[in-house]
Amino acid sequence: MSLPLFPVTTVGSWPRPQELLRAFSQKYRGELGRREFDHVADRAVIAALRAQEQAGADLVTDGEQRRDNFYSFVADKLDGVQMMTLSEMLDVVEDKQGFARLLATLDVPAFSIRNPTCVGRIRRREPLALEDFEFLSRHTDRPIKVTLPGPYLLTRAMWVKEVSRTIYPTKEDLGEDVVRILCEEIVALQQAGVAFVQLDEPVLTELVFTQGNTRTFMCAALAARKDPAEELAFAVSLINRVVEPLQGDGVRPIIGVHVCRGNWSQDETTLLRGSYHPLAPYFRQMNVDQLVLEYATPRAGEFVPVDGKSIGLGVVNPRVPEVESAQQIVTRVEEVLAHVPARQVFLNPDCGFATFTSRAMNSADVAAVKIAAMAEAAAILRAKG
Ligand SMILES: [Zn+2]
Repeated sequence: MSLPLFPVTTVGSWPRPQELLRAFSQKYRGELGRREFDHVADRAVIAALRAQEQAGADLVTDGEQRRDNFYSFVADKLDGVQMMTLSEMLDVVEDKQGFARLLATLDVPAFSIRNPTCVGRIRRREPLALEDFEFLSRHTDRPIKVTLPGPYLLTRAMWVKEVSRTIYPTKEDLGEDVVRILCEEIVALQQAGVAFVQLDEPVLTELVFTQGNTRTFMCAALAARKDPAEELAFAVSLINRVVEPLQGDGVRPIIGVHVCRGNWSQDETTLLRGSYHPLAPYFRQMNVDQLVLEYATPRAGEFVPVDGKSIGLGVVNPRVPEVESAQQIVTRVEEVLAHVPARQVFLNPDCGFATFTSRAMNSADVAAVKIAAMAEAAAILRAKG
């Protein structure tokens, strides 16, 4: 795998075409079989791939076209996991009042959210991403990034005390099996030749930015949490155990961790705010190569250098339609070059363009123009040497 200086990439998701959105609805209603759905999704993946290639991405993804969102798709792949709507969860949780209050603070209708909930012993019935990687690699020569929900996010999301505790008494118990499943997946991806694996752990910001505030952007935050420092230490240990099998010899993919502040609304005032400073000590403890972070939105505050890690630098905001100019991006990168060597800087948007299937933050056309602006900026930076 060879990547140029300032590799241009995405954080994962790409806006899905109408045809695919219809196929998702039909699949949920049981009107479309898996083969038929896959045909539609295959076309969407290839379109997302070509759009990235034409815009100048050096490291491509499948746009997460087959996933309903960045983490709940695992319910289709794992035994012991069942999709529950929030209203179904309301039926089982003991603290109904607290839960109802929390639902009221979400600005999305509760019935529209579904949570992958652990209802039995979890097992990998089929790979989470290996087949998607193999499909993509048959259609491109470019290095590929595969995104996976991180072990802390998955554990937090899936462990719903009232239904999970008979199988896994604590969420730490469930974490053991989540680690095993992600290890299997990452080793399979390594053997298949993946260039980059990104673990998505957006819920880490929720631990440090919402003290005393229940407003949140995903169901994962519904699970009871302990002291934030304890939770963050738990998250670090899960991540380090997931990447442990890759520490030996052999060609290993670049391992990144993506942490953001929510990507479900174009109204920036409703999303979490705060710098990465409180997370920096935990970032340092993670045995990963790269931190894929938001820096285009002012909500992320100033740049926080973390020694020894490369940076997937957020240089465009996926939620606003205005396209950042190449020169703006160059200026931003040059500020960061005061802290990080050039070979350790990747360029990406702050987050995906369509984290949730039906809530794309921009059109595919705008996404492509933003990637093209990043590619133009990368060319200027490379020419400066
Ligand atoms: Zn994100």
